Amino acid sequence: VIDKRRPLVAGNWKMHKTVGEAVALADAVVAGVGQVQDVDVLLCPPFTALWAVSRRIEPSRIMLGGQNCAFEREGAYTGEVSPVMLKDVGCNFVILGHSERRRYFAETDQNVNRKARLAIECGLCPIICLGETLDQRNAKETFAVVGSQLEGCLQDLSDDQVRKVTIAYEPVWAIGTGQTATPETAQEVQRFIRRNVADRFGDEVASAMRILYGGSVKPANAASLFEQPDIDGGLIGGASLDASAFTAIVNAARC
Ligand code: PEP
Repeated sequence: VIDKRRPLVAGNWKMHKTVGEAVALADAVVAGVGQVQDVDVLLCPPFTALWAVSRRIEPSRIMLGGQNCAFEREGAYTGEVSPVMLKDVGCNFVILGHSERRRYFAETDQNVNRKARLAIECGLCPIICLGETLDQRNAKETFAVVGSQLEGCLQDLSDDQVRKVTIAYEPVWAIGTGQTATPETAQEVQRFIRRNVADRFGDEVASAMRILYGGSVKPANAASLFEQPDIDGGLIGGASLDASAFTAIVNAARC
């Protein structure tokens, strides 16, 4: 049983940054936290900038991830990007099931599950996003919604496959709104997620699993979130577009 999980801080750049802008941001992040040892730092640029960013971060400890991937390795799937291709450009991670993909691109738990299994087969670690909407929270459905997303996304995965998975709890009402979950609120849901994983896959898998919090994490609130026992780092949207804010958030996760 692992008492202390190594924190992971991931920047989700969403649909921002041309290649030139992405390289400049990557260089600034490398200058700030490129050699940090006690936190895993991950950048997830848009697909078009992955290769260029991969080159820039190579001398550092910073890792690379995609923001989504296809559910097949290759074929006639116009507009899709295979996990094989992500691995090929230097990715070790892929974000799956982000609430923006669920909302605008009809992503389902079933799809996320299929993508997660393929991503793992291709050597990528999926970061699977879960979270309730404001209406669901107000209707006291948070645990039911998050529990059912978790169940669907991890369906039929083996213990060994689940060991590769990171979960990101991202309450939809906190993403890009400036409204952060309190550390206690996030901790309560993240403890529930870990218990749920323990019930299905055993204590050892659950205690080793990293569970991130995402939703308006900023330098001012990062430390109080990261000190919660079941919050193992963050998935950072808006603040990851600013190298000094992102650097401060990474530093807040240091042990
Ligand atoms: C996200 O998109 O994963 C996210 C958490 O965004 P923000 O930090 O901007 O709320």
